[in-house]
Amino acid sequence: MRPLIVVGTGLAGYHLAKEWRKTESSRPLILITQDQGENYSKPMLSTGLSKKKSPEELIMATATEMANSLQAEIITGSSVVQIDAEQQYVVLSEGTKLVYENLVLALGADPMRLALPGTGAADILVVNNLDDYRRFRRIISGKKRIGILGGGLIGCEFANDLCLAGYEVAIYEASAWLLSALLPEQAGRCLEEQFKRNAINVHCAAPVQSVEKKADYYQIGLDSTLNDDPHEVDVVVGATGLRPRISLANAAGLTVDRGIVVDQQLRTSNPAIYAVGDCAQVASWGVLPFVMPLMQQVKVLSRTLLGESQSVIYPDMPIVVKTSLCPLVIVPPATFNAAITWSVVQDDQGLLGTGIDEQCCLQAFVLAGSRATDTVYKSRLLRQMRLPYSLLPSVQ
Ligand SMILES: Cc1cc2nc3c(=O)[nH]c(=O)nc-3n(C[C@H](O)[C@H](O)[C@H](O)COP(=O)(O)OP(=O)(O)OC[C@H]3O[C@@H](n4cnc5c(N)ncnc54)[C@H](O)[C@@H]3O)c2cc1C
Repeated sequence: MRPLIVVGTGLAGYHLAKEWRKTESSRPLILITQDQGENYSKPMLSTGLSKKKSPEELIMATATEMANSLQAEIITGSSVVQIDAEQQYVVLSEGTKLVYENLVLALGADPMRLALPGTGAADILVVNNLDDYRRFRRIISGKKRIGILGGGLIGCEFANDLCLAGYEVAIYEASAWLLSALLPEQAGRCLEEQFKRNAINVHCAAPVQSVEKKADYYQIGLDSTLNDDPHEVDVVVGATGLRPRISLANAAGLTVDRGIVVDQQLRTSNPAIYAVGDCAQVASWGVLPFVMPLMQQVKVLSRTLLGESQSVIYPDMPIVVKTSLCPLVIVPPATFNAAITWSVVQDDQGLLGTGIDEQCCLQAFVLAGSRATDTVYKSRLLRQMRLPYSLLPSVQ
């Protein structure tokens, strides 16, 4: 019997294997990963410092433990370098060929690296897996000043974590406000204000032009018309977005766009190959690089692999931003590029932003401050989604 092969042992690969094994106990299963196959929760990487968790303490199970519990073979430290979609086999970096009945690509995404000039640009650290995190922890140890390039979700969470752990943090964001892809301006400013109150230096509308390595620090270069303070830091962390890993699928002739294109059953343009998680671009939803969408995909894909026909339907999926200095919950619009108008009200409880469509229905919201931690309030708003604005609970 040919196996199911899953490439990738991140949250998508392991959750899919677990879900599939609940019903399918006899078919062989092989997982392949270029890392060490440790099972850990990636979102913990941006809170580990302040929670005083070492990289090793974030590991929930080793690859051997996962292989035993999944009744699977797990090949670690090996990359899939080619897929022969016609003959149904994959080729590993060491040359081994493995045939499959079905293939699942759970490849994740690569951090984008800014093409910056300067002698320090190559030293910019990115943190996207456990090995990156081990390196990050080693390098920041004994250092004081950390510069973060990128004020999106991951950059803001690292700024929060490093600040709580006692570091001097400066964050540089090219857009006019923090988290601009997810938040209306007033909410971004609310986060900025809380960060500044906690001595995080926030520089918005400040695209970094260069990173120069000096004797024992890095000099961050900004546009000369901006603040001309010397931006000197000991470590530079890059958090400027992620790009789904599509090259393997592209070379195999699968349809790719921003991610690996899949239908609502998670099937690629080849009927024996599927994609899930950060590498997948699902039907009209596009790429959603978060845990909740991935969990919905896994449930559907495990049924698809068992021969059933289910479709991905996402519920409203709140994104909890782990910035404890200014707690934030965001429910983005269900469709990418939806035309919504934001209104924001702010009081001593925090902030409520509502995103309304042309029919005056609630399509998105954001909660900041103590409102974000009020689960009853959040549930009330979730129940109002896609209903007319006039039905919204008052701020009080
Ligand atoms: C710091 C940080 C904080 C985050 N916080 C949150 C949060 O609070 N909430 C939230 O919803 N989301 C959060 N996210 C996003 C979330 O963690 C991801 O959406 C999720 O972990 C993606 O899982 P994945 O399995 O698709 O990809 P990955 O975890 O990237 O796994 C990809 C796997 O593929 C393997 N691989 C890739 N190419 C090959 C190849 N050619 N051959 C063999 N193996 C290969 C890799 O080794 C790896 O095992 C965060 C992300 C980061 C980086």
